[in-house]
Amino acid sequence: MMLSMEGVHAHYGHIHALRGIDVEVQVGEIVTLIGANGAGKSTLMMSLFGSPKATAGRIVFDGEDITRVPTHEIARRGIALVPEGRHIFPRMTVIENLQLGTVHADAANYEADIARMFAMFPILEERQAQRAGTLSGGEQQMLAIGRALMSRPKLLLLDEPSLGLAPIYIRRIFQIVKELNRNHGMTILLVEQNANQALRVADRGYVLQHGEITLAGTGAELLASPEVRAAYLEGG
Ligand code: ATP
Repeated sequence: MMLSMEGVHAHYGHIHALRGIDVEVQVGEIVTLIGANGAGKSTLMMSLFGSPKATAGRIVFDGEDITRVPTHEIARRGIALVPEGRHIFPRMTVIENLQLGTVHADAANYEADIARMFAMFPILEERQAQRAGTLSGGEQQMLAIGRALMSRPKLLLLDEPSLGLAPIYIRRIFQIVKELNRNHGMTILLVEQNANQALRVADRGYVLQHGEITLAGTGAELLASPEVRAAYLEGG
């Protein structure tokens, strides 16, 4: 088991954003969380880093209870987050952005890690000296993913990676998610508005509504579920 959340609650002041979340991610899986705006998907991911802190329940990562572990220590233990909106540093070059991802890694492995990123994302090698802000949205998303991978995480969290991208890049991002998993054995927790594509690449998925898991199943089961079809697939 890579990650398990057991009865996790979290609050923002008076807002009860997570209401008893049970989620599991096995080693080597792609698991997706789908749900409407405001359902609590980003909050669930952030709660793994203790922001907001779980007010009840337990989070176990890689065999250890991390519920009360400080944020910086969680990154060091092997969870990396690609936040919604990418948050690359636009005035820094592509390679400088990647270098920022190495803070938790062994410096001796730096060259190998950069070579790995360039092999995975050749466009980043071509553009390595260019300011990141001049890349297209899809290229910036690849850079954000590459930066997260520089820390050699065991679990990669992707928050809305396809949001706001041109269709050609949306396809490419889902391909990358699949390749990372199949070819590099990366375990991935994926939050997506694009439920259709997310459920197609995912081994399993959870539907989140008002801070609660209302449905869980394999990607195929959720794709076929009338509830999911009505709420997240048809016309969307
Ligand atoms: P989106 O796709 O719009 O990001 P989401 O499913 O990720 O939606 P969250 O962003 O996790 O939803 O929000 C869950 C609930 O918590 C919402 O009611 C939201 O208004 C509230 N919320 C989120 N962040 C904060 C915050 N920093 N302070 C107070 N309330 C917040």
